[in-house]
Amino acid sequence: MYQKLLQKALAGHRLVRSEYRELLALEKPAELAALFQAAYQLKLRTVGNRVRLRGLIEVANYCAKNCCYCGIRRDNHAIRRYQLSAAEILEAAVLADRFGYGSVVLQAGEREDDEWVGFITEVVRRIKADSSGRLGITLSLGEQREAVYRQWFEAGAHRYLLRIESSVPELYRRIHPPDHDYRRRLECLRSLRRVGYQVGTGTMSDLPGQTLDDLASDIAFFRELDVDMIGMGPYIPHPDTPLGAAHPDFDAEKKLTLALKMIAVTRLALLDVNIAATTALQTLAADGRERGLLAGANVIMPNVGEVAHRKDYLLYTNKPGLDENAAVSRGKLEASLHAIGEEIAYEDWGDSPHFAARRRAERESVPS
Ligand code: SAH
Ligand code: SF4
Repeated sequence: MYQKLLQKALAGHRLVRSEYRELLALEKPAELAALFQAAYQLKLRTVGNRVRLRGLIEVANYCAKNCCYCGIRRDNHAIRRYQLSAAEILEAAVLADRFGYGSVVLQAGEREDDEWVGFITEVVRRIKADSSGRLGITLSLGEQREAVYRQWFEAGAHRYLLRIESSVPELYRRIHPPDHDYRRRLECLRSLRRVGYQVGTGTMSDLPGQTLDDLASDIAFFRELDVDMIGMGPYIPHPDTPLGAAHPDFDAEKKLTLALKMIAVTRLALLDVNIAATTALQTLAADGRERGLLAGANVIMPNVGEVAHRKDYLLYTNKPGLDENAAVSRGKLEASLHAIGEEIAYEDWGDSPHFAARRRAERESVPS
């Protein structure tokens, strides 16, 4: 039965929500191998075998929010807070440029105050100017007013990642404090699209109490929103958080398999979007990101920041590569990607074909 679904997807027919659910339920090794292989085939056809790299810069770990799963939430007093200087960020961006990564991601905890908004605006402008426009810039800085998203877009950022975390409002409510609002997050995703960003979203898998139906809904949500990029990952408990303290135990292989299934079914459902093989996969297995690529992902975000602050940016525990500088991890990554038959898209912003197709359709629908 599941073979029929895989054939259906490979023949170019769209799967529906109940079929996502059916594929997510596969467990036997042979079934999983067939699922991952089909998703990989579809990836080769839609986005190819060239991995897109983005240099990740973890700009600051100050956060005004208190998400119940996250190690840098406001009420975690066990960590040292830091913010990189503009010079440190520019240095990391120059390194990404020199490595030929083509683009950078600026990620941080969430702040909406004017000082922060102005700082990011200036940093984005300087990265653009210093790289003579070569570097693409993705931001992952949480919920903001539309005017702020516009200001950062006009400064030169062109992609934005804002995970919905869970598309199921009831589950979203259970993993956030009462003042974190699902509807605002959704409204922010719509603002980002209105402003003109390529929009990325995503969810965590294996959250406490999450069902396969919830995960199938997440994939349906990605399609409904018609996003350009997906950054998903396994939820990994952090002991200094309310959710992590309440549910500390986990089975790494089971978590990894579920995360890989989400990647594969998302590829089969969304076809030509960019899908990241996130660092959280690598936390669960040394070759987690490579397995993500073989299950349908096509983006990797190697850290290009100084190692000095990495141990302070622990959203979850056992994050890998804390002592490894960008040059070392670059060498290892290149070797491991070549070993699995992937190539690297150097000197390229690496926008998703989905975005280009959407832009074409929008242009053609404008009456002349
Ligand atoms: N503050 C911004 C960006 C930094 S957080 C934002 O929230 O959008 C980036 C992502 O880290 C979040 O979207 C969340 O999905 C992920 N994350 C946080 N804690 C996690 C955990 N314990 N396990 C796995 N992913 C986690
Ligand atoms: Fe802050 Fe993002 Fe962590 Fe939530 S997930 S506490 S917004 S850094």
